[in-house]
Amino acid sequence: MSILITNIKQLLQVHDSNVTIVKGDAMKNLPVIENAYVYIDHDTIIEYGKMEDYRPIEADTVIDATGKIVLPSWCDSHTHVVYAGDRTSEFVDRINGLSYAEIANKGGGILNSAKKLQDTSEDDLFEQSIKRLNELIAMGSGAVEIKTGYGLTTEAELKMLRVIKRIKQESLAKIIPTLLAAHAIPEEFKSKKQDYIKYITEELIPQAAKLNITHYVDVFCEEGYFDIKDTEAILEAGKKYNLRPKIHVNQFNILGGIALGVKHNALSVDHLEELNDDDIKALKGSDTISVALPGCSYFISIPYTPARKIIDAGLPLAIATDYNPGTAPSGNMNFVVSAACVKLKLTPEEAINAATINGAYAMGISNMYGSITRGKKANLIITKPMNHYSEIPYAFAHDPIEQVIINGQLL
Ligand SMILES: [Zn+2]
Repeated sequence: MSILITNIKQLLQVHDSNVTIVKGDAMKNLPVIENAYVYIDHDTIIEYGKMEDYRPIEADTVIDATGKIVLPSWCDSHTHVVYAGDRTSEFVDRINGLSYAEIANKGGGILNSAKKLQDTSEDDLFEQSIKRLNELIAMGSGAVEIKTGYGLTTEAELKMLRVIKRIKQESLAKIIPTLLAAHAIPEEFKSKKQDYIKYITEELIPQAAKLNITHYVDVFCEEGYFDIKDTEAILEAGKKYNLRPKIHVNQFNILGGIALGVKHNALSVDHLEELNDDDIKALKGSDTISVALPGCSYFISIPYTPARKIIDAGLPLAIATDYNPGTAPSGNMNFVVSAACVKLKLTPEEAINAATINGAYAMGISNMYGSITRGKKANLIITKPMNHYSEIPYAFAHDPIEQVIINGQLL
């Protein structure tokens, strides 16, 4: 099955050589071919160029993209797509003025999701979750990270991992599973957190690693949840099973989690709504990418990640949805790209870099995803007619997408 797309108004994020990350000032540059074509065969990008250089190619499907933009699918490097039920009642509590901590203390938050998930069958959980994933794909996401973390027991965490594995097998999208081993402290361990850390490091992680589904371990490093010492113990336990850290840090408090992540060669440090100069210093010269989650800031009215500080320091930045039932119940990357421009003060070029190639980097897949490059996977967005790619973030909350191609298949 081959697809030829012709007369593309703007073909975005074109790299002849395999670029795997863009940092700092380089994020201002988004390589574009005006009036372009692209040819894909099976699941691979084969050829592209200017229409004036186009020589006829036989293809099973030909798409005339006159007036439209073509770009790599969004790479959403931080989601909690697998969950049971929803938390709309907490939404109303929040409107009425309750804080994240107050909602958690009255039995809401992660513990609420955990209870629902534990009571949901594996098949039901799969059905609920793949339906959500398919919505994300229709909104342009072609590669999606999915975390566990609503299990809180080994049994329920393994159930989540098996569901993510099944999604990975059945979906055309690229799925990256992450073991969020330490997300919250269950009620029965409230007064004996160290016992729970022991349970995570000696039982949950070894058993989860045995399934061989994930290469990443995550911790919610935050006041009232897992402190630096706890986080380090969990990262050390993960390391024994070759699980690389991708961690939640600096959402509400600065505990030193960024430096700890860098010390343990984290692939990404995510959230960073709170950020100081020591954090920036720690990130310099590392292979760790920062991930901002503006949908979460929007939804629970907390500060936005100071993204300019990160990019202006020469560092790379990715943006993701944090799609989850409590603090970001939207997996729409188009909105995230827009919010990155409006609230994080990224230019459209920086935001698109953050949502494609750098998002792929934050999942460890940027050698095969995130740019229009010969030999890379054919995950593409074809937009509705528009004058310029800046209209994607400009027309916020509009749906810019006309068609998506995932793994070489037109959906
Ligand atoms: Zn998250």
